Amino acid sequence: MKAKDTEEVLKETLEMDQSFRDTVGTIDDKGSRNFLFPKKPQGRYTDRRQAMSYLLLAIFFGIPFIKIGDQPFLMLNVLERKFIIFGQIFWPEDFFIFVIAMIIGVLFVAVFTVAFGRLFCGWICPQTIFMEHVYRRIEYWIDGDRNQQLRLSRMPWNKEKIRKRVLKNSIFFAIAFIISNFFLMYIIGTKDWWEIVSDKPSEHLGGLSGMVIFSGIFFFVFAWFREQACIIVCPYGRLQGAMLDRNSVVIAYDYIRGEKRGKFRKSEDREALGKGDCIDCNQCVDVCPTGIDIRNGTQLECINCTACIDACDNIMDKTNKPRGLIRYDSENNVASGKSEIFTGRVKAYMAILTILLGVFAYLLISRADVEAIFLRVPGQPLIQVDENTYSNAYNFKLINKTSEDKVYHFQVIEPSEGIVLERAGESELIEVRASELSPGAVILYLDTEQMTGMTTDITIGIYEGEVLVETLETSFTGPFIKPKK
Ligand code: SF4
Ligand code: SF4
Repeated sequence: MKAKDTEEVLKETLEMDQSFRDTVGTIDDKGSRNFLFPKKPQGRYTDRRQAMSYLLLAIFFGIPFIKIGDQPFLMLNVLERKFIIFGQIFWPEDFFIFVIAMIIGVLFVAVFTVAFGRLFCGWICPQTIFMEHVYRRIEYWIDGDRNQQLRLSRMPWNKEKIRKRVLKNSIFFAIAFIISNFFLMYIIGTKDWWEIVSDKPSEHLGGLSGMVIFSGIFFFVFAWFREQACIIVCPYGRLQGAMLDRNSVVIAYDYIRGEKRGKFRKSEDREALGKGDCIDCNQCVDVCPTGIDIRNGTQLECINCTACIDACDNIMDKTNKPRGLIRYDSENNVASGKSEIFTGRVKAYMAILTILLGVFAYLLISRADVEAIFLRVPGQPLIQVDENTYSNAYNFKLINKTSEDKVYHFQVIEPSEGIVLERAGESELIEVRASELSPGAVILYLDTEQMTGMTTDITIGIYEGEVLVETLETSFTGPFIKPKK
């Protein structure tokens, strides 16, 4: 078949039978679950993805044990609103960084998806990693490949089936239990997790219940729900229709090369018969974990797992045809016969992604190690100390975001004279333990000479020894009428 221009392809697409889009491969005509038994994929992409999954699993199971100073590398304690990223504590006062990070995250996902489609789903998503590289591998090991699994599912409940089902589900639950333990470590840290598992169960009923509930959820998702999580639940999957366009890199079937499909017959001149390279062997469908036929075109169910690429490449090798009948490519490239993936557009998107990552890294690095909040003591009136001096009292919270104990003191920077800062009845030095906050109170005495109106802006420096580590702004409330000199 000759390459076609985009308009021609769009016209043909609209005329094509699109009824496959009306149904989901995992639900039958009566609305019941249609269990899939995908064939075990084999090939270069599967090997690369397997290696990638080992690396990501090692990272997932290793991170809770990595510490920076005394702090965990990563802890997301949503229960106590305590977040530690790269060993740095993020307090509720750092919430703006989270908001900006979320905005950057959404932009990043959108731009990444427009350029590279669902690359994330196939290579990085934890659902795919655990489903395809952990659970499915165990299933192949116990139940065998697709045909043996089909035979087992149709088998009556005899000794073999009971033994295999009990063994498989016991291992599945054990892995779900391990995942839920690590999940908990990410939330409460390894120290608190160890207390839960080593103390008497009656002392940690809440934590243990959480563990059992999450084990049950993970078991349900990976043993039964499976690809439905990607097809029905995942919001990222649902957004694909809005984010992908004809230039996005997807798993694409080259219909120009493949059609007209037809069974393979030795010593047959396919070209002379007008047949394409697709021998209609159905291997790409048999390996698909979401039960779709990629030859129908890009579909929301496709998680870019590359299993169909490997399956088809193996067939192409056997039929002495070039690999890549199914490959990573854009729909426009397939239609036009071009093969350039790193187009100017993709390079521009990559530049945007790099800038976004740079902004996020800057936000993390430039975050101050110390922060103070000054608030006027509620109900505390303005006090006239003498004819020319008034005082305001403030409560403060001084937060040490580092992993070392620190000693700070306050010093007024602006106005540079006519103002005194006194720490209510205590030494001016404030000790703040690592990753903790220290509350206290101070009184500011301000000369009327320095007042600029009813409120006067004050700049206070936070010093560690002689070093100014941070500044903060507050205001001094003076009398309604500026006293006469
Ligand atoms: S694996 Fe390749 S040759 Fe076989 S049906 Fe799929 S696209 Fe056609
Ligand atoms: S169509 Fe191919 S890449 Fe997409 S989910 Fe199925 S096997 Fe994986």
